[in-house]
Amino acid sequence: MAAVKKMHNIVLLFIYDPPLITLKQYMLNVSQLAINGNDCYKTDIKLLQKSNISTILYNLYLYFFAYYSANTTTDRPLLTYRLLRCYQTENRCYQKGESIGNIMGIVVHSTGAANPNLKRYVDYPEELGTNEYGNHWNNSDVSLMVHAFIGKDKNGQVAIVNTLPYEYACWGVGNGTYGSYNYSPTGHIQFEICEDNLTDINYFNDAVFGAAAEYCAYLCKSFALSVNSIVSHKEAHDKGYGSNHGDPDHWLAKFGKNMNDFRARVTTLLANS
Ligand SMILES: [Zn+2]
Repeated sequence: MAAVKKMHNIVLLFIYDPPLITLKQYMLNVSQLAINGNDCYKTDIKLLQKSNISTILYNLYLYFFAYYSANTTTDRPLLTYRLLRCYQTENRCYQKGESIGNIMGIVVHSTGAANPNLKRYVDYPEELGTNEYGNHWNNSDVSLMVHAFIGKDKNGQVAIVNTLPYEYACWGVGNGTYGSYNYSPTGHIQFEICEDNLTDINYFNDAVFGAAAEYCAYLCKSFALSVNSIVSHKEAHDKGYGSNHGDPDHWLAKFGKNMNDFRARVTTLLANS
C-alpha cells in the first residue's frame, strides 16, 4: 500500500508546472500530499498527458529531493478535518494560471447562499457527491475561483477541499480602491465557507470555528504567515483591496462573533500545535 501511495504521489507531481512555482512551494505540496492522501485521479491523468520528457525528469528529481525532506521534517501542521484536493481544471481562472506572487495573507469568504454542500461548487463526485444541476465552478463559463472550499462532503461531514494550486492567483475578492488581494504584490490565499441558513450553531461552530480556523492555522504554518494577515472579504474591502462585500462577518455576527474572535481561535490552535 505504501508503494502504491508513493507511485500515486509521483503521478501527482507531474501535474505541476515547474516554471510557475518555486522549489520551496514544490516541497510544501509534497509534504501536503504525504499527509493527505485524497486527490482526484482524473485531473492528474489529464495533465500528465501534457507533460514532456524534460518536465517528467525535472519532476522526478524534485520528487526524490522533496520526499526526503517531507520525511525528515518534525513539525507537520496537523488538521483534524479532512483536506481533500481536486483542482477545478475547467474553470477559467485555473486555465489562465496567473501567478499569485509572494503569498501575503489569507482572505476568508462565505458563499452568501444557503447551501452547505461542497458539491454545489466543487466538481468531485467521488468524495462530495454529484451535482445534479451541473452548476459547480469546474466550468469555463465561471469567472470566480478560490483556493479552497469548506462545507459538507457526500456523507454530511465538514471537510476542506483545495481547488486551485496555491501558486495561482485566485479570482475571489475583486478590486478595491488600492488594488486586489487576488494578485501580486498583495496576493492572498482565499477560501469560501459554504453557508447554510445561518441559524444552526452546530454547523457554524463546525465549519467556521472548526474547519476554517484549523485550515487558517495550517496555512499560516505552511506558508509562514502571521495570524494578523488573515482578513475577511469585508476587511479586505475596508482596507481598499477588495469589492464591497460583507462576508463572512455577517455570519459571525449572527452568533455574537467577529474576525478578532476568529483570529484568536487560530492563534490558540497554532499555540497548541
Ligand atoms: Zn467574499
